[in-house]
Amino acid sequence: MNKPLGVYIHIPFCVKRCAYCDFYSGADISLSAEYKNALIKHIRSYKDLHLTVDTVYFGGGTPTYFGADGLCDVLKCIFDTFCVLPNAEISAECNPNTASGDAFKKMRACGFNRLSIGIQSFSDKELSLLGRAHSASDGINTVRSAKKAGFDNISCDLMFGIPSQSVHSFSQSLDRLLSLDITHASSYILKLEEHTKMYADRSSYTFPSEDDICDMIQMCRERMEHYGMHRYEISNYAKSGYESRHNLKYWSRDEYLAFGPSASGFYNGVRYTFTHDINKYISFANGKISLDEALCEKETPSRNDAVSEYLMLSLRLVRGVDKSEFKKRTGKDLDCEYGDKIAPYVKGGFMENGTHLRFTDKGFDVSNTILSDILDFDG
Ligand code: SF4
Repeated sequence: MNKPLGVYIHIPFCVKRCAYCDFYSGADISLSAEYKNALIKHIRSYKDLHLTVDTVYFGGGTPTYFGADGLCDVLKCIFDTFCVLPNAEISAECNPNTASGDAFKKMRACGFNRLSIGIQSFSDKELSLLGRAHSASDGINTVRSAKKAGFDNISCDLMFGIPSQSVHSFSQSLDRLLSLDITHASSYILKLEEHTKMYADRSSYTFPSEDDICDMIQMCRERMEHYGMHRYEISNYAKSGYESRHNLKYWSRDEYLAFGPSASGFYNGVRYTFTHDINKYISFANGKISLDEALCEKETPSRNDAVSEYLMLSLRLVRGVDKSEFKKRTGKDLDCEYGDKIAPYVKGGFMENGTHLRFTDKGFDVSNTILSDILDFDG
């Protein structure tokens, strides 16, 4: 049997646009029924390939705003089309206030077994500056109602670098999050992306200083570890056994299929991304335009690109790159290829080089700079 695949479904609907968001998430919700049918048609087109799947991830956008019935119909189609392994990880992203207890129960009953909830902060002031459509108490209630509905594998996102955020307010958000007894957390720095409202208004915000950000990162790491959630990827923490199997596919350069506008996939050695236009995607699923017309990116990485990609992605993981696996996949000896470049970073305490090559905590803080040096690109 070939290695099981991941399946990613993009749900491009949101209650409102957050000030910092540059995802494809603003599609008109009145298209949701048409969109569901398009997804189902597209997914069914894989039926004769008899592919095995062990992770399914509904991301967005806000999948729970699309509704539990729609999500369950699409998931049923995935079960009918692929051989989904019995222990598959089936996740949906969710934002507070977009799913009731009944909706969570329905999702649990139709096969979802993991939720990723976009909490971001437990400060109402910070949530409002981010333009989020929920309050701190909505976040708490959502986690509680998901647990009550039977979800025992819950991840929450927490953000640092938010305008007006202090080390103290981050510390409070962190404590609140950990008191909810979740199994996984992602902690990301707010990135100011061009073409967002926050970018346009950036001069009117007060962002935390670099020193404060460093303190938040360190505090996050220490408190998560204290709570029993180990860091397994540069921005991700989990209780043992609850690491995101779907996201691990991205970092391990394993393959996954993509469905929906702006969704990216990696299959048969080809990386591809669908158009950021829901109408065009629907036309493609209905056979009115070709696959090539529905894609905005398609490339087959060269052998050298594949080597760099594998190194760059797996160095995001705390366990780093398994050197024997690297040789198996790329045919190259990691030390022969990169030994000279790596040596000064090992000497400086930024990397460790044994059976695995990995960043230390100190190295993770400057990993972009080190990677751009080792792989010869602009970081
Ligand atoms: S909820 Fe997420 S996807 Fe939707 S607008 Fe906000 S940041 Fe973007």
